[in-house]
Amino acid sequence: MKLSMVLPVYNEGEKLREFFEELVTVVRLLEFDLEAVFVNDGSRDDSLAVMRQLKNEHGDVADVVVLDFARNFGHQAAVTAGMEHCTGDVILIMDTDMQDDPSVIPRMIEKWRAGAEVVYARRTSRREPLLVRFLFNAYYRVFSSITPIEVPHSAGNFGLVDRRVADEIRALGEHNRYYPGLRAWVGFRQDGVDAPRRGRPGGRSRVGLLGLMELALDAFFGFSILPLRLAFAAAVLLALAGVVGIAVIFYIKLFTDLAIPMWSSIMTLVIFTASAQFFLIGMLGEYIARIYTEVKGRPHYIIRDRF
Ligand code: UDP
Ligand code: MG
Repeated sequence: MKLSMVLPVYNEGEKLREFFEELVTVVRLLEFDLEAVFVNDGSRDDSLAVMRQLKNEHGDVADVVVLDFARNFGHQAAVTAGMEHCTGDVILIMDTDMQDDPSVIPRMIEKWRAGAEVVYARRTSRREPLLVRFLFNAYYRVFSSITPIEVPHSAGNFGLVDRRVADEIRALGEHNRYYPGLRAWVGFRQDGVDAPRRGRPGGRSRVGLLGLMELALDAFFGFSILPLRLAFAAAVLLALAGVVGIAVIFYIKLFTDLAIPMWSSIMTLVIFTASAQFFLIGMLGEYIARIYTEVKGRPHYIIRDRF
């Protein structure tokens, strides 16, 4: 049996060595052939050189494969590439910045041996500022209420999947990828293990706030068409309200001497309908932008070098 480790790397520098050595001490005790697939996602520091050294030093413990991207394609693309190039019977995906604690891997393997085909890490502690944590929670709640599939709360990329699951996820060709969502979407027997998430070593996320927002939008629009349905429902309600409004106006005109306060009612209506329309156009734009990237059909990533 072979265990593959998919390891996306973006500017991890010297820390990468510490990370990999810690990982190796854990996984070498498992009874597996080992394969490590590093994906260098356009790092601008010495990460690639470190990977080269690690490949030389640890060749006896694991097959180390390095995929060197032609530029930075993003974390999700790196994970995709790693999954497409690994050959194991079970595939582990984890961050390389030491935020994911390797000591939970044996428990994940146990669950896999017991029959689980997907095992994800449940984050028991999120060391983020209160506001960020609040936003994450709010997001999860909205997301899970609009998507028909069940994406486990506070599960990220960290986890392992059976070969069959990896093949199914690979076959999903979509470009706007949100791995935890895709992993939930394919189904199979899923299970979680609790894993505290460590603090950020450098203190900063390289995915960044913008990247997180993009991921959030991908998850949101990629896994639900409910917003479109709601827009339709809102349009029906507005039309009904309009009919009632017109009836009231006719009544006032025909049967009373009351003057209708024109300016304020018109302005209210104009502002309301205009902002509602902009909102809906923006939302349609999110779907159209996704259709656009999908039909272009560009590759998810480009590999400059593989060794
Ligand atoms: N990463 C990547 N490409 C990127 C950004 C990040 O491959 O453009 C890697 C990074 O090296 C790390 C993982 O993806 O192993 C998660 O990134 P990060 O720690 O910045 O994100 P976090 O989840 O901590 O916000
Ligand atoms: Mg991190």
